[in-house]
Amino acid sequence: MTIFDSFGPRAERVRPIRVAVLGCSGSIGTQTLDVCRRHPSRVQVVALSVNGSVRALVSAAREFGAAHVAVADGSLAGSPALEELPKGCELAFGADAVTALASLPDVDVVVNALVGFAGIHAGFAALKAGKTLAYANKESIVVGGDLMMPLVRPGRLLPVDSEHSAIYQCIVGERSEDVSKIWLTCSGGPFYGKTRDELARVTAADALAHPTWTMGKKITIDSSTLMNKGLEVIEAHHLFQQPIDAIRVLVHRESKIHSMVEFVDGVVKAQLGSSDMRAPIQYALSYPERWEASAQRVDWCAEDPLTFGEADERTFGCLALAREAGRAGGTLPCAMNAANEVANEAFRKGLCGFLDIERIVSTVMDGAEVERVESLEQLDECDERSRARARAALSEVLH
Ligand code: MG
Repeated sequence: MTIFDSFGPRAERVRPIRVAVLGCSGSIGTQTLDVCRRHPSRVQVVALSVNGSVRALVSAAREFGAAHVAVADGSLAGSPALEELPKGCELAFGADAVTALASLPDVDVVVNALVGFAGIHAGFAALKAGKTLAYANKESIVVGGDLMMPLVRPGRLLPVDSEHSAIYQCIVGERSEDVSKIWLTCSGGPFYGKTRDELARVTAADALAHPTWTMGKKITIDSSTLMNKGLEVIEAHHLFQQPIDAIRVLVHRESKIHSMVEFVDGVVKAQLGSSDMRAPIQYALSYPERWEASAQRVDWCAEDPLTFGEADERTFGCLALAREAGRAGGTLPCAMNAANEVANEAFRKGLCGFLDIERIVSTVMDGAEVERVESLEQLDECDERSRARARAALSEVLH
């Protein structure tokens, strides 16, 4: 099964579609609820989860009349705010409770907006239960693509990532063997054009000022190191069954073209629009239809020229490391991702410098033994081992 086999109308589309939003208080989660709010006759929110933002959870559960909610942080059991949940709403705690929402019988579509590798369990559960998975949790495909892709049923895996949504829209109606290249566009991040010396001195606050997209903190730091783009190359490799080296990163500062696909005859299809995450979120819910949206329209007559350039992998080493991990495959992307999650968080907390992120990732990758991906348990172990190594590499950086 490849994504190309998966095009076509969703079988027996029910109305309204019943949705679980995992990670409903984050950037993607709140924008997903925005889309749901706009289409009450088409989408019904039946399940919600948060890590610890119980107030946001209660407010969303009341607004949408959710029947099931879960709080990942078990220490919040007994929190007085939760008494305001709607009557009859089922409440559970812990990471397993969040995962359980993904396979509820009254859920059709799972929006996985969890951050990081931990989100893989929910994504895996959703696919195993035959749900449609609209995923923003790219780490789960990067790390577990070898396990997850064979579980995908026709039309049941929809990317929320704007680039992958764009590519998906470009290849609807095409054949896998006709694709020659994928052009993954990249805003360049907040540090575009900086030298290594300048990068050595940037801070998390500088990184969090992203030029074109509004996103959560983890992904914003990943965008500044270009690790986000590296993860997206591996994500595209799994999702669209293309070799790593057929996926090219194209710096496009204006973020109007969300990605392009080049075919064997030299024809290139691109998907364009404003930089509003609600567009790819809505497409993941509406596919194979299109629904009206409030996203700002681009005035193409007034638009500045669109520019393109090559990504600088020498300055932004994380992109080169991710390509290397993608080429090697197996458990190396898992080790790389784990190291990146540790280093990303350390940088956000001011514990290490910007360039230390790639140093830590590189150290962990160098010491990793690469195995074929066989099970989720194996990935859990690899993730844990790689995190421990990343923490050791971090403490060396600190001394
Ligand atoms: Mg993206």
